Amino acid sequence: MFKAILIEKPEETQSVSITELSDEQLPEGDVLVDVAYSTLNYKDALALTGAAPVVRRFPMVPGIDFSGVVAESNHSDFKPGDRVVLNGWGVGETHWGGLAGRARVKGDWLVPLPEGISAKQAMAIGTAGYTAMLCVLALERHGVTPEAGEIVVSGAAGGVGSVAVALLAARGFDVAAVTGREAEAAYLRDLGASSVLDRSELTGKPRPLNKERWAAGIDVAGSTVLANMLSMMKYRGVVAACGLAAGMDLPASVAPFILRGVTLAGVDSVMCPKPDRLAAWQRLASDLDMAKLEKITVEVPFEEVPQIAPKFLDGAVRGRIVVPVTPELG
Ligand code: NDP
Repeated sequence: MFKAILIEKPEETQSVSITELSDEQLPEGDVLVDVAYSTLNYKDALALTGAAPVVRRFPMVPGIDFSGVVAESNHSDFKPGDRVVLNGWGVGETHWGGLAGRARVKGDWLVPLPEGISAKQAMAIGTAGYTAMLCVLALERHGVTPEAGEIVVSGAAGGVGSVAVALLAARGFDVAAVTGREAEAAYLRDLGASSVLDRSELTGKPRPLNKERWAAGIDVAGSTVLANMLSMMKYRGVVAACGLAAGMDLPASVAPFILRGVTLAGVDSVMCPKPDRLAAWQRLASDLDMAKLEKITVEVPFEEVPQIAPKFLDGAVRGRIVVPVTPELG
């Protein structure tokens, strides 16, 4: 038996409990993993609170990420004892996830943990950090270099934003960190932001075009924030959009695209193909300052996960949350 968080929905409203499960209850898959650490992302908070229909099947073990050690494998790429990390693929949404002592998954979903990243660090990174890396890679793919000018990052004090600021600064980019929390200015400068802007600069009614300010952007907010960001891109600027913290809508005009050649690059981490995941994890291993990662990470006991989740929805979580499940494995 192993501990697990379980979301059930017998009728209209869902309930969350901490319970015990056995291997026999786990879903199908060709690799069984002993989970060392999991984490909490914005999406986990939506699942745990039921604020959005993230969970597609009940009962569900939440947790879109985990790191751990292979216990049993029928997959040619993995053998018992291998250190692995999993992000997305519907885990914690349609397939039981990482907030449990064990997980059985498809081996094709697993990424070998790169040398130099511990199981705990992998979850300090988590989907948020791996998505931040995918965003940086998207900017690079479109030719953005530090010489092009400042890069703007929204939701900068959140999980994706914090890691994005640290990653960009490590590569020599000037970073304008946008936050709704003035009190986090010192934290953001410590991560490497060259300037800190109040979110209100991006929440006014978007105009088709605004004064050109940034060479590129990483946006976790969507809605008015993304529309304003697009309107302020320099000629041939690129925005990597990955989130909807401000909303699903996009009240923008095509003017930045057709008059300034701006690119809007969508970033999805969930179904991202394996080669891109391997590349992102390798770059995280080489680029991310692990001392900075530690500074942005808070550890939350497994038993407190249900109480912490609602704080995400209030925008009150700073940086990343790591959840030890079987930390002695890490
Ligand atoms: P967090 O809650 O850690 O961070 C979100 C941040 O957004 C907050 O900390 C806050 O930062 C800012 N924010 C909150 N509300 C608003 C608002 N109304 N307007 C503008 N900014 C706001 O979440 P994550 O970093 O884990 O995720 C961020 C977003 O990215 C989420 O929407 C998530 O679903 C999405 N995401 C998408 C992925 C993908 O594959 N496409 C993968 C991972 C995440 P501050 O206080 O600094 O302003």
